Amino acid sequence: MNIVLANPRGFCAGVSRAIDIVERALESFASPIYVRHEVVHNKTVVGELKEKGVVFVDELDEVPNDAIVIFSAHGVSKEVRAEAERRGLQVFDATCPLVTKVHVEVSRYQREGRECIVIGQAGHPEIEGTLGQFESDGPGSIHLVESVADVRALEVKAPERLAYVTQTTLSTDDAAEVIDALRDRFPGITGPKKKDICYATQNRQDAVRRLAPQCDVFLVVGSSNSSNSNRLREVAGKLSVPAHLVDCADDLDPQWFEGACTVGVTAGASAPEALVQSILARLAEWGGCRIEEAAGVRENVAFSLPKGLRGNSGSG
Ligand code: SF4
Repeated sequence: MNIVLANPRGFCAGVSRAIDIVERALESFASPIYVRHEVVHNKTVVGELKEKGVVFVDELDEVPNDAIVIFSAHGVSKEVRAEAERRGLQVFDATCPLVTKVHVEVSRYQREGRECIVIGQAGHPEIEGTLGQFESDGPGSIHLVESVADVRALEVKAPERLAYVTQTTLSTDDAAEVIDALRDRFPGITGPKKKDICYATQNRQDAVRRLAPQCDVFLVVGSSNSSNSNRLREVAGKLSVPAHLVDCADDLDPQWFEGACTVGVTAGASAPEALVQSILARLAEWGGCRIEEAAGVRENVAFSLPKGLRGNSGSG
């Protein structure tokens, strides 16, 4: 059984920065450090940070006054930000700068008096934060669409003043279909100059598109609540390759590999490389004899840390 690793895979610059922020806060301040929402969607990362003294909460009312709170990589609404300020909480913001870019677009569309359409997954924390950039007492209105069917059913007040943004971790193919449907229905709609789906999502999906057709089975390392990991599994699945999302080696089922000659492996943007390595070790026990790295694009994106935390991870 040959194993081929997709490239690039695993941590993106936004996830590395978010984890770095939490770890530096733990080093610099007394525990507990509060983090609103899972800082990144990965069970192992969250479990390790809990052991180091992080308390994960769903909402700020679970955070005591005078505490330090970190906002997750997925971003928060303006209301959450205002509440933290009202309460005088010390905040470190781990929102990925590429999510912030989408927030800035939404705010600008509202200032321009536009009606804004967000393409994304209902209930995902990034989408809640993005919808929450639209101030309820301001002009215009905001809508969420998940599919082409939603676009057909959408009722808008001002079709001549429409704009759209997307979640950063969508499938590029699915998002293109929804955007095409919006453009068909509302030819005057405006959108981002450069698309909102981030470089990491795009590169990881492209790597799966290149590799999956050569594989008999495809594994995506990532947690079930990770949007970008789920999209990677779907991309492989649409290429008719049996594809499985696994959190760790214990999730593997030996039956998946019966008769398989080539197994492709990738990891979502929030999955640590150590998990990939533990999966390779298990596959080696089951007959994985050759491991190779597929060719792929090199990423050199890095984001700087917020003021108030020691050191700097670079810029980009
Ligand atoms: Fe940022 Fe993209 Fe990584 Fe999300 S997947 S944290 S948007 S770089």
